[in-house]
Amino acid sequence: MSNDWDVLVVGGGVAGCAAGIFLAQAGLRVLILEKGGHPRHHVGESLLPASMPILASLGVSMQEMATRYQPKHGARFSDSTINRCETFSFSAPGDPPPAFQVTREEFDAELKSRCLASGCRYEENCPVTTWRPIDGGVEVFTADQQIHRARFLVIAAGRSRLNCSTADGVSDARDISNRFGHLAIYNYFSDLPPAVEDERGYITVHLIANGWIWCIPLRNGDTSIGVVLKGDSVRRGVDHREQFDWALRGCPDLHDRLKGLLPRDEFRAAADYSYRSSVRYGDGWVKIGDAGGFLDPIFSSGVHLALNSAQLATRAIIAHLSNGDTAGFEAFRQDMDWAEMVFEAFIDRFYNRDLVRQLFFADYRPPYMKAAITSMLAGHVWDRTNPVIAMFAGTRDESSPSERASTK
Ligand SMILES: Cc1cc2nc3c(=O)[nH]c(=O)nc-3n(C[C@H](O)[C@H](O)[C@H](O)COP(=O)(O)OP(=O)(O)OC[C@H]3O[C@@H](n4cnc5c(N)ncnc54)[C@H](O)[C@@H]3O)c2cc1C
Repeated sequence: MSNDWDVLVVGGGVAGCAAGIFLAQAGLRVLILEKGGHPRHHVGESLLPASMPILASLGVSMQEMATRYQPKHGARFSDSTINRCETFSFSAPGDPPPAFQVTREEFDAELKSRCLASGCRYEENCPVTTWRPIDGGVEVFTADQQIHRARFLVIAAGRSRLNCSTADGVSDARDISNRFGHLAIYNYFSDLPPAVEDERGYITVHLIANGWIWCIPLRNGDTSIGVVLKGDSVRRGVDHREQFDWALRGCPDLHDRLKGLLPRDEFRAAADYSYRSSVRYGDGWVKIGDAGGFLDPIFSSGVHLALNSAQLATRAIIAHLSNGDTAGFEAFRQDMDWAEMVFEAFIDRFYNRDLVRQLFFADYRPPYMKAAITSMLAGHVWDRTNPVIAMFAGTRDESSPSERASTK
């Protein structure tokens, strides 16, 4: 079969662009088909330190990031009802920024520019409608009746679903979860008066009875504020603004600080976003980023998993297309399953076992615990020596003395 492309990527968001760049760096011919165009709005401004090396390998320089985006030094968890706040700092004062809080319009558009610079072809306003396996590759159909052929397909279409009824029937399969947050409503506010001096350098998670609220300060002076409600707290038939205001009253400090500030945009919402993919890859295709699963925004894991899944999957694709080796796909699946399992364990404890009050605010915490939590919050999710990760993953006894000694 003569293919037009080595790899066709559906979706030109974070995962799709990262995959495109890695594949083009390996000399492959890559076509990215993107439903919309850039710049475009996207939620998800808080990045993790562990993502920075991957961004650097995509050509996104940390120096440039520092001129464009708000440096992020760590994460804070606050519960004003019991007057507690715990800060987890990713770096020491004076260190270079360990991560950033980004405007996604700019950040995602920058990744697209990197794709073009690396030699990918990137077509905007080109929604893919379906695809099918063919001899030696895949055939991909777009809304404007184009047909593209490639040796391999990367599905990076985010939370949107592709219609795979004409394909193998499994690449669209999802296990929906309803154990976490159900509805996020968010907007952007200028000139939020800070509660503490260094507030802009941190994501702050405010606990409320019905869920939680994120505050992510951005470099342009705006703060991204989103309320996340548990399923039983969602008030059906109430508009986004009213529901946002109602949830905000659960955090009187933030409610007071927002008085008189006008939202910059319309109130946007994302609902029922937690799912996992039962199958991550098949013959001639792989799913990465949100297309492979999205759990919950509480630990800002989305972009990190999107970048990592792109890196791991493209290593497997490059090996496969050069020598027919398929072993890399199973390694990719295992690595992504591990990361999701770890994040899921944390998220589950956050929603269902009072993680913040029990562990983050605990008065009597083993000394190693804070560093272990900080490392996890920084995104080092594959660090199996992290005692908290090992404990939550069920591979470590919490009271193991040897591990405590070695991590002190
Ligand atoms: C409420 C909420 C808050 C979040 N906060 C954070 C955060 O603070 N930090 C963080 O890291 N993550 C956060 N996330 C998650 C994060 O935004 C995503 O995980 C990340 O953007 C995933 O990247 P992606 O490339 O997989 O998907 P996307 O970035 O969504 O990209 C998918 C692309 O595919 C395109 N597409 C879709 N269908 C088609 C089609 N049929 N044909 C062609 N193109 C198509 C879309 O237009 C889009 O550009 C949050 C998510 C939610 C829901």
